Amino acid sequence: MNVMAKPPRRLESYAGGTWVAGVSEGVPLLDASTGAPIAFIDSTGIDFKAILAYGREKGPALRRMSFHERAGMLKALGQALLETKEEFYALSSATGATRADSWVDIEGGIGTLLSYASKGRRELPNTRVLLDGDVESLSKDGTFSAQHVLSPLQGVAVHINAFNFPCWGMLEKLAPTLLAGVPAIIKPASQTAYLTELMVRRIIDTGILPEGALQLICGSVGDLLDHVEGQDAVTFTGSAATGQRLKTHKAIVGKSVRFTMEADSLNAAVLGLDAAPDTDEFDLFVKEVAREMTVKAGQKCTAIRRVIAPRAYSEALIESLRARLGDTAVGNPADQAVRMGPLASLDQREEVRARIRELAADAEIVAGDPDNPRVLSGDASAGAFLNPVLLYCDKPGSARAVHDVEAFGPVSTVMPYDTAEEAVDLARRGKGSLVASVFTNDPAFAEEVVLGLAPFHGRVMIGNRISAKSSTGHGSPLPGLVHGGPGRAGGGEELGGIRGVKHYMQRTAVQGTPTMLSAVTGRWVPGAEVRSGGEHPFRKSLAELRIGDQLVTGTRTVTLEDIEHFAQFTGDTFYAHMDEEAAKANPFFDGRVAHGYLIVSFAAGLFVDPAPGPVLANYGVDNLRFLTPVNPGDTLQVQLTCKEINPRANAERGEVRWDCRVTNQTAATVAQYDVLTMVAKTRE
Ligand code: NDP
Repeated sequence: MNVMAKPPRRLESYAGGTWVAGVSEGVPLLDASTGAPIAFIDSTGIDFKAILAYGREKGPALRRMSFHERAGMLKALGQALLETKEEFYALSSATGATRADSWVDIEGGIGTLLSYASKGRRELPNTRVLLDGDVESLSKDGTFSAQHVLSPLQGVAVHINAFNFPCWGMLEKLAPTLLAGVPAIIKPASQTAYLTELMVRRIIDTGILPEGALQLICGSVGDLLDHVEGQDAVTFTGSAATGQRLKTHKAIVGKSVRFTMEADSLNAAVLGLDAAPDTDEFDLFVKEVAREMTVKAGQKCTAIRRVIAPRAYSEALIESLRARLGDTAVGNPADQAVRMGPLASLDQREEVRARIRELAADAEIVAGDPDNPRVLSGDASAGAFLNPVLLYCDKPGSARAVHDVEAFGPVSTVMPYDTAEEAVDLARRGKGSLVASVFTNDPAFAEEVVLGLAPFHGRVMIGNRISAKSSTGHGSPLPGLVHGGPGRAGGGEELGGIRGVKHYMQRTAVQGTPTMLSAVTGRWVPGAEVRSGGEHPFRKSLAELRIGDQLVTGTRTVTLEDIEHFAQFTGDTFYAHMDEEAAKANPFFDGRVAHGYLIVSFAAGLFVDPAPGPVLANYGVDNLRFLTPVNPGDTLQVQLTCKEINPRANAERGEVRWDCRVTNQTAATVAQYDVLTMVAKTRE
């Protein structure tokens, strides 16, 4: 179905479980290339307080699901959206996006959903509460400890998004929010809301999300922010001016509502002192700067705005960039030969032109004409076309505008430097950015510059000839990596894998006896009650096993022959095991000691139940520590306690984590670790 072929229609909001239109006719939204109306947007008459209340009321449906169930939901949603992706592409071109631009927005967004689905299944337990860090011991006798836990906020997450990524901007926020178990209200920027609305319709149509998990506001949010509460969270992407206004909204301040802001950012790319015009790094740099200026017509929060290059190479760099940018075919993205579409609207182009005039106070235009667009196809006077504009600022150390003014379009400024220190200083004048990149093949330059940039940036990418083919590039926020930046960039942090999920959860320090902590967290804590005796725990299926089930093994005395045998058998003849004098001279040992891996092997020999049964495999150990040396004649014993049971959704098995403590004849712990096993859900 080609939605563009339809006459302009009134966008609707999805509120309180139904699609509703505003009471007024609304404001027209225009195709960025042709100026033709695409849709009308309006949200007047909507009861915003009720939307928040509805999301909160329906929250328990999401919270009842485990992390794995919610991850499964995200996966199903991602797959369903992929099936209907061509519909989104068809409409996306009206925003001015080329097919390549739309790929980032549409499939990049769906990919983020799928990445979170996969991370949820692989990195989170199949529980509803998340443990954070280890148990903190708070008493000498072990009767009082603490464990940090994370539980989902019981409000709603309001996501106020920017116009440039109508799909990705929604999905990159929705994925961690839903995985955390929190309902969301999406407020897309009006300019491109028709594409977000289409995607939300398809999401709702799938029936995959529980009712109330997702609501949409097309148009102004009215008085919604007046009604946010302490259990809600608000995220904002857009201009610093709006962001700062919202951040200081009385309800947000007064109710301590979490507010994450991602605002404009003057991202820099630094060409290394080693990257002369005949190097691979120089060529990669030229390609990257040109790409960042032209992808989405430069309307990317991560785009390179400041090009910091060694003074000696600046002229060659400008020449190369001028040639490359001059070849960029600008026009209506419906034409497949077009490489760069228009800006999102004529207003946006006026805004960018105004910013270029401000930049011109410090810099001269060396490529592109902001006022007379040259287009390959489309009506140059109807669309928001702008050819890439490159500026050069000869004295960036004393300039202001080039470090302050963001032209949110295909605009960058080249600025020369002489020393690595100066390059860092120039980049930092952006007062905090989302990302910087450094193109160098010199590790010493990389170290100096990256460490100088890091405190001022959320992400720093090093580009060179080795990673040229595999690099994801300067401008791509990735689901596994933090996205956000300090200072001017808004001070927010998104994505970053499971870190992003935790933004929608409350961290609580729970204090009490080990038994109480075990009951609350579902994870056995040392010192908590145990059940030993009876059937060997390896004979129990997941359905029968309980945390605290414990095996106390028989004993085994380690002999010198054991140590020598192990040394010869494995080839590990390190002197501490083989040479009495040398071992004694070592500050840690009082003569020859057993290999750590011998202790672990003997421990397995003590705790394993050999017959086939519900335990299917041992897939590793975590946190292995050797705490006391074992000398010939020492006697080992093991306490193996069921610590955590993690049934896998949609599988016949799950993971069991065992606390394994190996002691000697004086009850001193010689080794401690977690044994990880795969166990069947039921007995055969
Ligand atoms: P705005 O700050 O005007 O808008 C951003 C979002 O906030 C939109 O959804 C907008 O909705 C909403 N909004 C505006 N006013 C209010 C309000 N009073 N209450 C609640 N929501 C509000 O930014 P633009 O989209 O116009 O973009 C302008 C600039 O933002 C760009 O030039 C660029 O500098 C920066 N930007 C930064 C991005 C980033 O990722 N860091 C991305 C995109 C833009 P509505 O559209 O309905 O007004």
